[in-house]
Amino acid sequence: MVSIKLKNANKKFGKVECLKDINLEIEDQEFMVLVGPSGCGKTTTLNLIAGLEYVTTGQVFFDENDVTELPPNDRKVAMVFQSYALYPHMNVKENMSFGLKLAKTNKSIIDERVNRAANILGIEDLLDRKPKHLSGGQRQRVALGRAIVRDPTVFLLDEPLSNLDAKLRVEMRAQIKKLHRKVETTFVYVTHDQVEAMSMATRITIMDNGVIHQVGTPEDIYNQPANEFVAGFIGSPAMNFFKCGIKSDTDATKLQIGTFDFEIPQVISDKLKGYSKIKLGIRPEHIIIVQKPVENSIRVIIDVVEFLGASSLVTVMLDDETQLLFAILVDGKYDANIGERAYISWNSEKMSLFNVDTQKNILMD
Ligand code: ATP
Repeated sequence: MVSIKLKNANKKFGKVECLKDINLEIEDQEFMVLVGPSGCGKTTTLNLIAGLEYVTTGQVFFDENDVTELPPNDRKVAMVFQSYALYPHMNVKENMSFGLKLAKTNKSIIDERVNRAANILGIEDLLDRKPKHLSGGQRQRVALGRAIVRDPTVFLLDEPLSNLDAKLRVEMRAQIKKLHRKVETTFVYVTHDQVEAMSMATRITIMDNGVIHQVGTPEDIYNQPANEFVAGFIGSPAMNFFKCGIKSDTDATKLQIGTFDFEIPQVISDKLKGYSKIKLGIRPEHIIIVQKPVENSIRVIIDVVEFLGASSLVTVMLDDETQLLFAILVDGKYDANIGERAYISWNSEKMSLFNVDTQKNILMD
């Protein structure tokens, strides 16, 4: 159990600046997920915490202790990787005990820890099996078991579910969440999958290109993205973005979307003072679509309807020469003919508005 702090951490590989001035605090016992596209620096951040890599400049703390120069063995961390890295000639019990044996741990303690870990993971029946006789999910559980028996102060997991099929990934997500609750230890989990991040994390760190864009709870990040990158990365189907003009007259302020106007309330227009254009972000699930015009609605033409089972993804086109496309997520099956007219609207509170130069969320300033 430990809190972790990266302070002004920079990492260069030759001339490549992989991490640029990372400041991150991970609380004791939290489940922090590092998420971002390939090459953004997630694994390197994890490696700095593990001691598998060292910062070029900056510091790493475990609680108040500066561990910047400490080798991995002295940090009491356990890592679980995408490749399970089990020894093929050893059975499950031997795989799980191996590290403790090397550390000359007493046999009764080894047995106790292996049995406890097997119990937590529900793999008591598999202890005598060799890895080749295990499924992917079972192998990953053994890899987790090998981490648990070390009784680490921090669990570091690097894309541990990427080798599993979609159904098993969902099952293992829940297993790992349960494990976190049971062992009451700090978890740092790396993934490029935003669904995994949203469903597992107590807090998420979103990275791109060696910098942190936002740290927050899944709800915060989803509802109040700090910038356009975060807004576009989190959420599936992705948020709709449009460049809009701003029109103010004595009665109201309106966003100009294509050739249509969308009226916005005073609290939002107050934040837009000094802007002549902005980028609007609205999530597909926050748009309503109706057959007849309603207050503050925009005329569209149905372009594509995709039935997804529990919901339908409807793509509509503004009914003007701009033909801007909106993706809309509708519950259940959406019945409409392609080319038909419809009207869309949304609750202003659900909008994100971005500065077109800085990409920052104007409503969060
Ligand atoms: P992925 O999801 O693809 O694993 P990542 O977000 O984990 O990506 P890192 O593996 O941390 O990203 O890599 C970040 C950047 O640093 C990449 O551009 C990568 O090529 C570079 N990099 C990482 N390790 C090294 C190394 N040992 N030598 C040179 N460059 C490296």
